Amino acid sequence: MFSFDTINITLAFVGTVTLALGFITYLTETKNRTNRFFFHFVLAAFAWILTMIMYRGVPDQATAFFWARFLYVAAATIPITFLYFSFIFTTEEKKLSKLLSTVIWLPYLLMVVTALAPGVLIHGVRFVSGGEHIIIFDKLWHFVYAAYIDGYFLWIYINLIRKFITSKSLARTHLRYVILGTLLSTVFGVTSNLLLPLMGIFTYNWLGQVTVIFMIVAIFYSISRHNLFKTKVVTTELFVFVLWAFMLGRVILSGNNLDRLVDVALLSATIIIGILLIRSVIKEVKIRERMEALATELATANDRLRVLDQQKSEFLSIASHQLRSPLTAIKGYSSMILEGSFGKFANDKLREAIERIFLSSERLVIIIEDFLNVSRIEQGRMQYDFSTVNLEELASGVIKDLEPNIVRAGLTIKFEKKSEGPFFISADFGKVRQMVTNIIDNAVKYTPKGGIIVNISRNNTSRKVLLAISDTGIGISSETLPILFQKFTRAKGANTVNTQGTGLGLYVVKELMKAHKGNVWVESPGLDKGSTFNLEFASE
Ligand code: ADP
Repeated sequence: MFSFDTINITLAFVGTVTLALGFITYLTETKNRTNRFFFHFVLAAFAWILTMIMYRGVPDQATAFFWARFLYVAAATIPITFLYFSFIFTTEEKKLSKLLSTVIWLPYLLMVVTALAPGVLIHGVRFVSGGEHIIIFDKLWHFVYAAYIDGYFLWIYINLIRKFITSKSLARTHLRYVILGTLLSTVFGVTSNLLLPLMGIFTYNWLGQVTVIFMIVAIFYSISRHNLFKTKVVTTELFVFVLWAFMLGRVILSGNNLDRLVDVALLSATIIIGILLIRSVIKEVKIRERMEALATELATANDRLRVLDQQKSEFLSIASHQLRSPLTAIKGYSSMILEGSFGKFANDKLREAIERIFLSSERLVIIIEDFLNVSRIEQGRMQYDFSTVNLEELASGVIKDLEPNIVRAGLTIKFEKKSEGPFFISADFGKVRQMVTNIIDNAVKYTPKGGIIVNISRNNTSRKVLLAISDTGIGISSETLPILFQKFTRAKGANTVNTQGTGLGLYVVKELMKAHKGNVWVESPGLDKGSTFNLEFASE
């Protein structure tokens, strides 16, 4: 009777996994030499496991002796197949020289002959009741055999470690897995299957066949990582084919007609479900591959955009700086002419023209300041000088400064306190002033008639100070509301009321508020219904 004890069952399990991983790797890329050589190694490892099962399972000493010799042949095949693998792994393109590939085989062939010929390496097998069989071998030949295995593995390690030292990051990660897995397997395998038997201990001479799984899993993982999707398809296919084979076996072997009928029905169902499964996996994999390709394209495009964006900010900064000095001269001289520093005007037309020059240059100064602010923000060069600021004082100061303009535009402005003060915040005075000016300025620009109300309030529970600037102006549509604070955004109707805008002011406000850890938002019931801009700071 063939003995199927726990160890043999474990070996059968490891053998099945080994073979499955080998096939998956091979079928994923049949033309790839790394995959092929790994498959050869897997076949050797599988033969090693299978011969061990046979050797341990057969009931008589003569048959066990027969299998013991093949066990040694299979074990000798492992280092040579793995040596080939170690030559090409991560450096696929290199070919072995003719001489080397001939020389490599000689020691192997010698080992095969000595293992197979009865009475050279192995003299017989002795059964021990309740323990592992003992192999009677020739001490000297066994020593040579061990030297062959160890020597070849040493060669393999030299190959792998040399590659590890000289290769780049990705190949290094691959090699790390392979070296670690191999180390685990060989330490166990060489000890349990070579050294201990040499000392007459056979209790663990099956352990190497189990621990070989470490290197097989490690290599499988490292090879299939770059082709994960394809591996998934092949794994599914293999699983489905094995299921079909199993069901077919049942149909052939079923005892009576009823059983056969049931098995045929099950087989048909398995075939249909299997095909559907494979197709759905292939579909999913295709979609994922496409997505991965798109993600890579997107990443490249993004990198390029980032560079362009940076170049744009630099250009903006340089151009604005260059524009500033001639503009200062234009503004300065036109102002001096208007003040009469160069004598009286010949006529009113001339005065009007100079006034236009002065006003336009003033507007340009503001626009250039916006550009400079944007480029400072984008390049992270904006400097902040925080101190305790009284927001009430600041707001009323701004209102006072802007009042003449507001009155000239035929509008009214009111400043109201909605709660008790004081309204201290931690802020950069200049920047907050710039923000409040900008928002009140906008309220003036976009309000044809009516007025502006500025509210200040403090919430003691949330410890926030809120400045709300409401106007009775053109309002903001619900489509524009969410994008208003983006760069260069102007509402559709903005041009009809004010043609000079750049769409940068609110963007700058949003960025400055971010630096203050505050909040800015806008509310508007709709077009022509006015709007309210809110600036919220943490109170001191
Ligand atoms: P600019 O005023 O230079 O166009 P801003 O960034 O200051 O740029 O404003 C962006 C847009 O927001 C304006 O073009 C306008 O459409 C809208 N907007 C700003 N303030 C108001 C307001 N008080 N009422 C209505 N719309 C406004």
